[in-house]
Amino acid sequence: MIQREEISILVLYTGGTIGMMQDPKTGALVPFDFGNIYTHFPVLRTLGYKIDFFSFDPLIDSSNMDPAFWLRLAEKIEENYEQYDGFVVLHGSDTMAYTASALSFMLENLNKPVVLTGSQLPMGMVRTDGRENFLAAIEIAAAREDDVAIVPEVCIFFQSQLLRGNRTTKFNAEDFDAFASFNFQNLADVGVHIKYNKEKIFKPNFRKLKVHKNLDGNVGILKMFPGISESFVRHCLSAPGLKAIVLETFGSGNATTAPWFLNALKEAIDKGLIVLNITQCESGSVEMGRYETSLGMGQIGVVSGHDMTTEAAVTKLMYLLGEGLSDERIKQALQKSIRGEMSI
Ligand code: ASP
Repeated sequence: MIQREEISILVLYTGGTIGMMQDPKTGALVPFDFGNIYTHFPVLRTLGYKIDFFSFDPLIDSSNMDPAFWLRLAEKIEENYEQYDGFVVLHGSDTMAYTASALSFMLENLNKPVVLTGSQLPMGMVRTDGRENFLAAIEIAAAREDDVAIVPEVCIFFQSQLLRGNRTTKFNAEDFDAFASFNFQNLADVGVHIKYNKEKIFKPNFRKLKVHKNLDGNVGILKMFPGISESFVRHCLSAPGLKAIVLETFGSGNATTAPWFLNALKEAIDKGLIVLNITQCESGSVEMGRYETSLGMGQIGVVSGHDMTTEAAVTKLMYLLGEGLSDERIKQALQKSIRGEMSI
């Protein structure tokens, strides 16, 4: 049985609000020095874990996140995988759901927790939500039962909820409760106790971690709206280098039945573009063929993204394209859950 004090956690700080504190002299927000973490959070010692910190340089606002940074993050986890029992990634909240989704696809056979967290208010502010998020994320990354990690998944912890990373969306820019997983149950709810939803959490498979390092960024998102013009759609579909597009449709996967729209899509698909249908709704699933307004898309080869989030859809496409698979294999992989990202 691993003793509590033997559990080791690596905290990877990428930037974002959580790592800021107010300079007492100027009042400006400056990055927190994690070298002094125990001075600011003496309570960390009482957890009894070995906690190490690594800060990326430069730290970034997560709006600047990109596949190159995801690769650095995945490689940091790979390099340190054997030495630590769990990983906490401190990350700006704005694109945290994209990073969590991307990591879930990049880290195959993950048997240790990778818990992303952040905050709406900087760690160094009196009313910060960062303190609780940070401490709970560490507890979750360290949690074990029968010598195995309880949550061997890429997940997001924010304001009392532990969510599967590739099922999560940031839906609130104001409240502490900023994230939700609309189509999948929480992995844990944190109050007085941490209540794990063990039925829903992946079990470790004890296979060797495999890190997929090639993400292909030639993907796009096209959001439908009433009145969308043919020239705009055609322009998007013919963007140079574009290999796949996430079509954000209405309701259960519907879009205009105007002939020009289906013709434009068909021409793009015939030239090799992969078109993945995702609903604009927060909750629910694409069901192509339920209405006439999605039937035509199915017939010309638009692929259903079922109940995937946009974040998961974009990063899954980047991952599958990066694997160099044939279009047919990519379309098959889009139809099934490969990291728990969809409900089929
Ligand atoms: N703009 C910030 C970021 O995403 C907001 C935050 O940290 O929550 O990096």
